[in-house]
Amino acid sequence: MSSGHAHAPLGPARVEEVSDGVFAYIQPDGSWWINNMGFLAGRKHTIAVDTTSTVARTSAFQEAIARTANVPVTTLVNTHHHGDHTNGNFMLDGATIVAHEEARRLIVEDGEEGIKRLQNAGIFVNPDGGPDWGDIEPAPPFLTFRDGVDLYVDDLRCEVRHLGSPAHTTNDSIVWIPERRVLFSGDLLFNGGTPFLLMGSVVGAIEVVQSLKQFDAEVVVPGHGDVCTMSVVDDVLDYLHFVNDLAVRGHADGVPPLELARQTDLGRFAGLGDSERIVGNLHRAYAELDGGERGAEIDTLAAIGDMVQYNGGKPLTCLA
Ligand SMILES: [Zn+2]
Repeated sequence: MSSGHAHAPLGPARVEEVSDGVFAYIQPDGSWWINNMGFLAGRKHTIAVDTTSTVARTSAFQEAIARTANVPVTTLVNTHHHGDHTNGNFMLDGATIVAHEEARRLIVEDGEEGIKRLQNAGIFVNPDGGPDWGDIEPAPPFLTFRDGVDLYVDDLRCEVRHLGSPAHTTNDSIVWIPERRVLFSGDLLFNGGTPFLLMGSVVGAIEVVQSLKQFDAEVVVPGHGDVCTMSVVDDVLDYLHFVNDLAVRGHADGVPPLELARQTDLGRFAGLGDSERIVGNLHRAYAELDGGERGAEIDTLAAIGDMVQYNGGKPLTCLA
């Protein structure tokens, strides 16, 4: 072992059968770029929910599916456009890729250059070297919807729904399996990590996360963190209200987001992972308090630059 390793090695990804034939694929530790996926293994169809940020991680996901499912992935649902959930899309050869129309627009617009720009910006660094993203080719969804679509694995219905407002992004979608009461929430819910609203809307997220209560879920597979129950909804709402209240006060007092974040004791939220997201969240809240539309484009790189400043000027730790 070389010296200077800042982190214990991450545990291996886990496949958890959360209901008969319905699997969560949980990647520890759920921090930056390390997300969760899922898959449903039927007789004739295999549906996957999201891919991963790197080629190596997506290969491991595919191997896990191959060990369990009868057929390779026939349909892939992206819960939103972020690269940790979509970079591996291109590896699922032959799958129909389904997502909200804005997810497609953003992945197309970003293109290969956009992916490389973000990777080479020096924002996200693995202290052990890397991350080794692999050679990512953008593969945008090519079956899109505005409000939702139903998919079937054999006779089991999966409801893919956009809940009406920008929240984590402009194009968040959940996968709800009513017969099994299983909810794949995408990044509308983080379990143990700090929610991130920079590319969506803080007030929108409050509405959308609140509306998740319409689903009487027994099992929740969050976008990051361990499988959990619906109690995570109130935990996330608690944080969202905290950010919103803080932003309203700071904006009225004319305190810039970075300064406001530095002055703020995160209190009970200090233990959530990637706490520097507070700065990006405040940037988004301020844009709305200035009259900006929910989800409107803002200077996200400047906001992420402020997150790096908040982090003592150091790049953000990415263990992917
Ligand atoms: Zn995301």
